[in-house]
Amino acid sequence: MQDSEFQHNFHTHTFRCKHAKGDVADYCERALTYGMKTLGVSDHSAMPDDRWLQARMHYIDLPEYTGAIDRAREQFPGLRIVKGMECEYVPEHRNWYEDELRGEYEFDYLIGAAHFFLDEDDDWVGTYGGTNSAKALVEFANYNVKMMETRLFDFIAHPDLFGNCYAEWDANCEAASRDMLAAAAEFGVGMEVNALGIRKQAAKSASNPYPLYPWLPFWELATDYDVQVIVNADAHRPEDLQGKTGEAFAIVEQLGLRHMDVDALGNRSIVQGETA
Ligand SMILES: [Zn+2]
Ligand SMILES: [Zn+2]
Repeated sequence: MQDSEFQHNFHTHTFRCKHAKGDVADYCERALTYGMKTLGVSDHSAMPDDRWLQARMHYIDLPEYTGAIDRAREQFPGLRIVKGMECEYVPEHRNWYEDELRGEYEFDYLIGAAHFFLDEDDDWVGTYGGTNSAKALVEFANYNVKMMETRLFDFIAHPDLFGNCYAEWDANCEAASRDMLAAAAEFGVGMEVNALGIRKQAAKSASNPYPLYPWLPFWELATDYDVQVIVNADAHRPEDLQGKTGEAFAIVEQLGLRHMDVDALGNRSIVQGETA
């Protein structure tokens, strides 16, 4: 598949996270130009305690963010626009995701993403640079499993992000990956093959010893589990809405992995029907 054939993107950021460009309407215009059918907007989540502000919107920005999505739905009726956010899971805010995000703001879907994870002492560790030991891989996997157990999240972004600082695939990687994949199968949570990772791999310097992500052995292991996967652009600029999604789909197709149903994802009536 060519990048230009990619039609359903559920991983899109706006300027509000401070490291992306463009607003919802800019992505909508670009998506229509590219002939796309679905735009899932999923900026880095605000947090009720305004933690980790360097790469996310402020809590006070939340109504303005959801308003921008609502307005775009009126402005671009030819595009399916789905309301989401990319969230770390902070256990003490368990009810907030459900009551305020899923409830009050009517988010259609939430992405679970461990840019931070809890270590064995319940302290937060940054995933970039932090998944560089056997112990950290166990903690990263446990955290992702905990996130999936909540059933708050439709899919997990870049579950193989530990490749950012772990150089060689080994038994620790395999054990961590198997724990995450088994949980994904058990709880029916999708696993994302992230095309931004492929763009980063294409741009990385020769001196970088790390594989980054997607890390192929993770996806080879996925064939042992009844998991569904999803390809997303993880766009931080409108022009990246399809970038390297063809290569991401090549991984899915070569391994015979099953892609999530893109019509059901974010469709609240279908989700509610299933869980009723
Ligand atoms: Zn980002
Ligand atoms: Zn993202």
